[in-house]
Amino acid sequence: PQTIHLKDYAPFPWIVDRVDLTFRLSPTTTRVLARVAYRPNPEAGDGPFFLHGEDLRLISAAIDGTPVAPRITPEGLTCDVPDRAFLWEAEVEIAPESNTALEGLYMSGGIYSTQCEAEGFRKITYYPDRPDVMAPFRVRIESAAPVLLSNGNQTGRGDGWAEWDDPWPKPAYLFALVAGDLVAVRDRFVTRAGREVDLAIWVRPGDEGKCDWALTSLKASMTWDEETYGREYDLDIFNIVAVDDFNAGAMENKGLNIFNSALVLASPETATDRDYERIEAVIAHEYFHNWTGNRVTCRDWFQLCLKEGLTVFRDQQFTSDMRSAPVKRIEDALMMRSRQFREDGGPLAHPVRPEEFVEINNFYTTTVYDKGAEVVSMLKRLIGDNAWRAGCDLYFERHDGQAVTIEDWLRAFADVTGRDLSQFQRWYSQAGTPRLSVTEAWDGETLRLTFVQVTPPTPGQPDKGPQVIPLTMGLLHPDGSELMPSTTIEVTEATQTVDFDGAALCAKQGKPVARPVPSLLRDFSAPVILDRPLTTEDRAFLLAHDTDPFNRWEAGRGLAREVLMARATGTDFDDAAYLDGLRAVLSDPALDPAFKALVLALPSEDDLAQSLFDAGTTPDPAAIHDAAEIQRRRTAEALGDLLAETHAANATPGRYCPDADQAGRRGLANATLSLLSRTDDGARAAAQFAEADNMTQSLAALSALLNIGRGAEELSTFEARWSGDRLVMDKWFALQVMCAAPDKAADVARGLTEHPAFTWKTPNRFRAVIGSLAGNAAGFHHASGAAYTLFADWVLKLDPINPQTAARMSTAFETWRRYDPARQERIRDTIRRIRDTPGLSRDTGEMVERMLG
Ligand code: ZN
Repeated sequence: PQTIHLKDYAPFPWIVDRVDLTFRLSPTTTRVLARVAYRPNPEAGDGPFFLHGEDLRLISAAIDGTPVAPRITPEGLTCDVPDRAFLWEAEVEIAPESNTALEGLYMSGGIYSTQCEAEGFRKITYYPDRPDVMAPFRVRIESAAPVLLSNGNQTGRGDGWAEWDDPWPKPAYLFALVAGDLVAVRDRFVTRAGREVDLAIWVRPGDEGKCDWALTSLKASMTWDEETYGREYDLDIFNIVAVDDFNAGAMENKGLNIFNSALVLASPETATDRDYERIEAVIAHEYFHNWTGNRVTCRDWFQLCLKEGLTVFRDQQFTSDMRSAPVKRIEDALMMRSRQFREDGGPLAHPVRPEEFVEINNFYTTTVYDKGAEVVSMLKRLIGDNAWRAGCDLYFERHDGQAVTIEDWLRAFADVTGRDLSQFQRWYSQAGTPRLSVTEAWDGETLRLTFVQVTPPTPGQPDKGPQVIPLTMGLLHPDGSELMPSTTIEVTEATQTVDFDGAALCAKQGKPVARPVPSLLRDFSAPVILDRPLTTEDRAFLLAHDTDPFNRWEAGRGLAREVLMARATGTDFDDAAYLDGLRAVLSDPALDPAFKALVLALPSEDDLAQSLFDAGTTPDPAAIHDAAEIQRRRTAEALGDLLAETHAANATPGRYCPDADQAGRRGLANATLSLLSRTDDGARAAAQFAEADNMTQSLAALSALLNIGRGAEELSTFEARWSGDRLVMDKWFALQVMCAAPDKAADVARGLTEHPAFTWKTPNRFRAVIGSLAGNAAGFHHASGAAYTLFADWVLKLDPINPQTAARMSTAFETWRRYDPARQERIRDTIRRIRDTPGLSRDTGEMVERMLG
């Protein structure tokens, strides 16, 4: 397979002035007629007239009405064309029903829908399927289906047909079409400029009652983007469609977003608080793309972070504003550490802006999305809020209607601030997580911090230069009061010292001179691993006194990690400081319940494995699992009454509402319930399960029971009640695999694959069973190797029908080098078995090659 390089970018030699598409829909023989107006691009060099096209049956092609005979390959066609403007016409035939890859035009539950990002449009017609070719589209759909949708505004509708016109020039990846038996739940939004926008969420009949939250979230997003970025919506219609078969979460097609139904449908009985929060965030994310992605798009797919990192950052800001900013920051940091640091530290590490790929679908990664968002966040932190907004305004003004690069993006901020951002740009080009070690020296007057930054080698990048690290920090007096509030310093050198006049700071506060205690990397101000020798006492002190909520939580997490790492490696330790810390946090009435729940949660087993590995120890997944289980019981025994009180006080916050306040209280109650089950034999959980009137409490109770090896009866009750609800059944499948004991996980998953409702071609269901097996760390890495085998068997079964999801799944093996020789060998053999399978897709092929390095 061919590797594509950023350095080989060349513009397309033609400009597209207009695209007219006619679809005659049929499950097996859909006809697509394309009429595309091309003219030579004066800014591009010469090149062949090459149009992408895959799995298409060409019926006819003509230029200016004269039939032509293009040369066809599996990737597309070339054709001799005149050296002037001309009209290209082609008719192709495609079969949506047999499109199981869910890329291009496909059918899901009797509904036609599309997914064109990144390169799916080439499965619809012959076209320059690249983001820098932008054009206005007109679409005519002919079908007996009752609902016919495409991008833009509807311009005509008759019996068996509809016409749509999208005036905004767009790349083909934003094209969308939906047809089928759908119903709309409608609302309306008036923009600041007075444009009246018809909003509609389209769902399968029967799901109308589960759309309110998505609509509420959409209106909130539209308002927020006007207020925060001055960005308004630009069409008369905004449609969202929910489909069941979807490889990703959602897609920002212009005016016609298409969503995985799991990220639209919600009711208190069927969706958890987490689901509500995710729906709110993803609706916002896709809406925000209208400016960051659609109006200003990417020149090529190497620039994916230009739209994704920025849009994730914007949805994070939105969630912070709608809910709790400190809680959101902690959740995002957790995500970065558990997923992105893991990717950045393994064989799949790549820069936020990669420089080469085989299959672009493999680069919709946590690095591009989440680290991409962190890079945007650092930029804002470095230049300040006003320059941030001014730079964004300039970026939109300069590049509206264009397909641009990271250089264009950064230039807007360099121009607004006069700052040289060339070192900052390393965040886009260097892979790997920088390790920032800090040492302190105190001479009775001055506190000197010495920073050393090192970014380890990653595939293809042996040497790295220092990056600019915005380090937000404060100083505390040993009596617990604040000496210096949050300040951001810039660490730019490989080794750098910073001095603080501790004596003066103490004197200014009227305090006796004492060595200040630094609180570093507040608010998780940069995606780095902070290497800092802290004692248990230091952590306990920061947990009790830090004014920065993130670092307060971080201190508690440090205590938990210490205890668990010691337990998992058989080292001596004392968990008194950890338990005291928990007591203090739980009893503090001033703290947000959601924050308390975060402090109460233990680091995940995979996190601990990574922490041990980073500390130079080979992690033992079984020992880590046991350590966490033992600690949960210990905590439950030590804090029993306090946990019970906390549960009682928070379990029933009133008539169900998915807002942050109630969700936080239920989250805390459920975190305590899980612990309490270790000592009450599941009595409270069984009672909660029996009484729950919402999915959050029902599922948490079931999970608490399964985690202590009970809950068989409740599982059946749950299944009987929800067998008709596919999204709830996904939870039922997933929970059993996630909560299975390590020696049973593979068997549980195997058993579920034999369940009649295991519709494995639906990605959500596949992920619920097979994906969850990889999420059960001790089960997945059980010494028998049974889970590796089962997992690989299913990846191989999925690969021929859905390469994109199969490839994504295969990354479960990316951590193989962390483990002991026996496990390494087992995993390596498993990856090789995948690699050596005849007919393996390009997608999965690329992943396994990279994992083997
Ligand atoms: Zn996105």
